Amino acid sequence: MRNELISVGKKTYYYAGLYKIGLYMLSETEVCLIDTGIDEEIAIKLDRLIEERGWKVGLIINTHYHADHCGGNHYFQSKYKCKIYASKINAALISNYDICPAIVWGATPLNVLLDHYYYTNSTDAEDIEKAKLPEGIELLELPGHAISMLAVWTDDDVIFLGDALVGVDVLKKEAITYVYELGDYLASLSEVEGLEAKLYIPYHSEPVRDIRELVRINRENVMDNLKRIKAICKTPRHFDDIVREFFNDIDMELTLYKYNVKGGIIKTYLTYLHNMGEMETECMDNYLMWQTISR
Ligand SMILES: [Zn+2]
Repeated sequence: MRNELISVGKKTYYYAGLYKIGLYMLSETEVCLIDTGIDEEIAIKLDRLIEERGWKVGLIINTHYHADHCGGNHYFQSKYKCKIYASKINAALISNYDICPAIVWGATPLNVLLDHYYYTNSTDAEDIEKAKLPEGIELLELPGHAISMLAVWTDDDVIFLGDALVGVDVLKKEAITYVYELGDYLASLSEVEGLEAKLYIPYHSEPVRDIRELVRINRENVMDNLKRIKAICKTPRHFDDIVREFFNDIDMELTLYKYNVKGGIIKTYLTYLHNMGEMETECMDNYLMWQTISR
C-alpha cells in the first residue's frame, strides 16, 4: 500500500493507503477529511503528508460510524479542534461509541472482540443536516451497509462511496461483506449504478472510472449468498447450523471473531428473507429453526 496523497481534481485528493480517505480543499491551506482511517497510526501517517504541504484539517465528514472510518477522529480532533459531521444517527453513534459493538453482537460485546475494527474512542460529532456544508460538497444518502451512510460528491466530480460497495479483491477474500439492512443495501447499489461521475472511490478498493461493472459484481455476490442461505434452509435449520454450513460452503474456518461479524451478516440475510416472506421460523425441541418457504 502506498503512503501518499493522489490528486484526482483541482481540490480533491485521496490517501492511497489501505483505506481510501478523502481530502477536499476548503481553502488554500485547510482540508476536509472524508473518513479518518482505522486508528492513530494511520492518522499520524496521513497527518505527516498533510503537514508536509503546509495544510491543516478544518473539518471531518464521516460516511458512517464503523471504527475503520472514524478511528482517526480522536487524533485529528484533538490536534486541530475541528468539527466532525455525520448523518444524525451516525453522529450520535460516533459520539457514544460504547453502544456501537452491540449493533453487531446484539448484547454487550465480549471484551476479547473489541479490536480496532470494532471499537474506537468516542469523539464529538454533529448532525450534518444542521450544519452548513462547505461549498463544493454534496451528500448522497446510501443506507444499507450502515444506517443512513453518506457518500460525498465533490465539485471535481469525484464520489467517495464509503462502503456502498467493495472491490473484487475484497469480495474474493471475504465471500460475504457487512450489511446492516439488505433491502436498503440493494436499493443503494441501484442508486450508485445510476450515478454519473468522473471517478468513484470505494473506501476499501482502488478508484474506478466505470462503477457499473462493480455494482453488478457486488449485486451478484448478494444474490449468490441469498441463494446459498435459502438452499441451506431447505430443511429446518437452527442458526449455528446455518453458520456452520455457510462456512463449510465458502471454505472458511470459523473463529469467535468471524462468528460475531459474519454471523451478524448471516442474520441480516435471514432477516431480509423473513421480511420478504421467503423464510419462516418455527420453534422445534426448543431450537428456533429457519426454513425457506418453497414456492
Ligand atoms: Zn463500514
